[in-house]
Amino acid sequence: MNHSCAPTAIVDVTKMEVRAIAPIPKGSAITFFYPSTEWDMAQPFKCLCGAKQCLGFIQGAKHVPRQVLRKYYLNQHIKQFLYDSAETHKDDVPAKER
Ligand SMILES: [Zn+2]
Repeated sequence: MNHSCAPTAIVDVTKMEVRAIAPIPKGSAITFFYPSTEWDMAQPFKCLCGAKQCLGFIQGAKHVPRQVLRKYYLNQHIKQFLYDSAETHKDDVPAKER
């Protein structure tokens, strides 16, 4: 499955499920947001998804501003990384997530 900044599906690694979150036209690729499962990618890449909100360079959730991440579904281990790094990003993490 390829990455998109405007994904058509989410990957839930806890439940081992892929769920559609947008209509997927017949014949088009199912995409998901890589930083929803990847914290710090070993092989970052330039995104060519063409979405209006495209992040440009995909390196994992660690490198994405918190206010952008909040718009996406994130897996629990990514939320945990966000929590663990909250000490250095206090202002970016909502109080309830600390
Ligand atoms: Zn993109």
